[in-house]
Formats: sequence, C-alpha cells, structure tokens
Amino acid sequence: MLERYDRQIAYEGIGKAGQEKISKSKVCVIGCGALGTTILNSLCRSGIGHIIFVDDDTVELTNLQRQMLFDENDVGKYKVHAAFEKLDVINSEVIIEGYVDKISADNISIYAEDCDIILDATDNFQTRQVINTYCIANNKPWIYGGVAGSCGMATTIIPFKTPCLNCLSDFKTNEGYTAKTSGIINAITASIGSIEANLAIRYLIDKPSDKFIYLDLFNDIFECFELKQNPNCKICGNK
Ligand SMILES: [Zn+2]
Repeated sequence: MLERYDRQIAYEGIGKAGQEKISKSKVCVIGCGALGTTILNSLCRSGIGHIIFVDDDTVELTNLQRQMLFDENDVGKYKVHAAFEKLDVINSEVIIEGYVDKISADNISIYAEDCDIILDATDNFQTRQVINTYCIANNKPWIYGGVAGSCGMATTIIPFKTPCLNCLSDFKTNEGYTAKTSGIINAITASIGSIEANLAIRYLIDKPSDKFIYLDLFNDIFECFELKQNPNCKICGNK
C-alpha cells in the first residue's frame, strides 16, 4: 500500500520509482540511543522494507531528553524491546527485527550480511572501527554519524569510492568524550539522525551524497566538505 507514502512520493526527488526501491530495501541500524531512535523512527515511517537493529543497553531516565522513541514507562526495559513496540505500531508494513546484542567483529556479519546499507548510531569509535573494517572488506556502504554537545557530523561511506572512516580519522579515538561528560542537546541528535536516515534513503534510490556534513547548532555552523580517499589508508588504500 503506497497511500501512506503519498507526500513522500509527491516529492520529485523520490517519486513512485524511488518509493518502490525504498520498500524493497533492507537496512541495519547499529545502536538504539539518540541517533538510533531518530533514524529508526524516520526509516520506519519512510517505508523501508526490512529494518534490523541491534543494541544491548536499557532505557534510563536521562535518555528521555533525546531518545525519541522512549517514554517514562520504558525506563528499565531493553531499548530494543521498547523501540520495537513503538515501531511496530508506527508502520506495521515494515518487517522489523530487533536484537539485544553488542556488535563486535565476530557478530556483525550475522546482522549486516544481507543488508543494502548499515547506519552507525553508536557512541564509540571501537564499534565504528568494527563497522568500517567490515564494510570495506565486504564492499558494503555505511552511513557515519557522530554527535557531541551542540556539534554533529555525518557522511556516506561507499568503499573505494569515498573516503572510509580510517581515511578521515586514522582512528584517533575520543574515549571519555560522551554524552555524559560533554553534554548533548536533542536538536543535534535529532538533526544528525535525520540526516543519516536521509543519506541512507538517497543511497538506496541511487542519489547518494558525496559530502561530509558538519553542524554546530549553538554557533550557527552548517558546512559541507568534499573529501578525498587517502591512497595510503591502511583499510581502503591502494585498492
Ligand atoms: Zn580509508
């Protein structure tokens, strides 16, 4: 039934052909916190055919300020279970699978193998490194997103066409710089989560972005960069 997507189909950038591609797509969202709930809400409403999501955390009271699928009744529940209950009634046409698990190099393929794209909704560089290494090795695209304070960034990573995360960061980790220590405003998680979902949809309908997007919502910074693959990258270089 395409009726519920009428307004999305009416947008010329998507159209009926784009909606049909969206409906046939399968995506994997890793993480179900502030970015994850925003991404899942958006992709589920947009009519992605099949969504797999993975998180091993439970809902805390301090999450409710920005984790958009949760309410006071969910505190203490696994985020995956609480999110599944909401998504299932937002759009029952979407096949949704949620798993309570912590993503590692050993298990990522179980969830991501058959997916068209992976979305990063994690809060740490170790898991992003796992995603990046898996995606380059398996020639699978993924969407990077990161947030802290009032700042956030996002980009589409297509192996051997765009820079990978290692090209951009060389994995200089930012451990200890978390929502708890740096603080976080919900406008930036909602913005970056929405941008990530939109970047995924654009890739799925063959209109991918090649920009690196950076926002700072307390300093009115909205920037896009074009970045190049590092030929000496240890993960994706010289291929
Ligand atoms: Zn690279």
